[in-house]
Amino acid sequence: MKIFITGGAGFIGSALIKELIFNTDHEIINIDKLTYAGNLLNLKEIENNKKYKFRKFDINDFREILEIFKIEKPEAIINLAAESHVDRSILEPANFIKTNILGTYSLLEVVREYLEKNKNINSFKFLHISTDEVFGDLSNGEPPCNEEKSYNPSSPYSASKASSDHLVRAWGRTFNIQTIITNCTNNYGPYQFPEKLIPLTINNIISGKKIPIYGDGNQSRDWLYVDDHVRALSKIIINGKINETYNISGNNNISNISLVKKICNLMDKKLKIDGASTSELISFVKDREGHDVRYALDSNKIRNELNWKPIESIETGLEKTIDWYLENQDWSKEVTK
Ligand code: NAD
Repeated sequence: MKIFITGGAGFIGSALIKELIFNTDHEIINIDKLTYAGNLLNLKEIENNKKYKFRKFDINDFREILEIFKIEKPEAIINLAAESHVDRSILEPANFIKTNILGTYSLLEVVREYLEKNKNINSFKFLHISTDEVFGDLSNGEPPCNEEKSYNPSSPYSASKASSDHLVRAWGRTFNIQTIITNCTNNYGPYQFPEKLIPLTINNIISGKKIPIYGDGNQSRDWLYVDDHVRALSKIIINGKINETYNISGNNNISNISLVKKICNLMDKKLKIDGASTSELISFVKDREGHDVRYALDSNKIRNELNWKPIESIETGLEKTIDWYLENQDWSKEVTK
């Protein structure tokens, strides 16, 4: 297929593009605005590949993107472009509304017009990438959310993502666009912008800075290694059922404090620290406003229907991630400039 990927210069998008270029025959056109979180350095390995093109646009650029649709005639779009950091959504929500809600709306309108003019492309698919955060938080002991669970977002980020998911479903039903939505848990792995918990912790340890932990650190998340996630997306774009939702989780629920201590233990070994431990850098800070207690997803549907399961455990995934950040300090310096 010829597939448009939005947000392909970001963390998950760049991993997805590399997965599709290296392991499938799909042709990829990456549409990305290159915000602070997007960087073409993430795509160096495939930048000259014949199956890959890059176009620098905001997903709100309706006319320009419609024009590329007319020229390229894609058979699918995977929408990953988003403002993705919860802390930033609390400080400055406007960009979250513009990109996550209005940008998704604009893409849906492009697709609607494109399909109206190209009635022969009736197999076109719109795959929209969402998050477990749209379900809101769970108390300890509550079962993980399955795909039927109602939305109950708490932060400006998760509310903007929930809003975009509703738009995708509505455009699917009203305008007959073939849509699929995926909700995944927290991703981690190489090339994640070092403002997120895992790379921030690793980089702070490397430079001897404090590791900030919100509140008591007992909030828990499920962690999904990014390559496991993109392997799931690669299956879904071909075999996922139209108008359905798939949860994607790593089955690695762990509290923030336990996760950070795991990273510290691994870093102590990697940096050959004897006696003292890097865990002494942990510093508890005032809790985030509205901080969700726990997220957890039931991903039996994709496991049973599409025969997908994650390969990495939190131990193997963290080991790979830490090694990558230790070997790629130049990347961290460059993207945070
Ligand atoms: P990211 O912040 O690393 O990358 C986002 C990309 O989108 C960047 O390349 C950025 O330049 C681009 N972008 C932002 N605004 C744009 C706009 N208006 N027009 C075009 N491009 C724009 O994000 P990520 O972690 O790779 O997340 C990708 C998607 O997955 C997002 O939709 C996010 O909500 C979702 N998601 C992420 C996680 C996670 O743990 N990272 C978990 C669940 C869901």
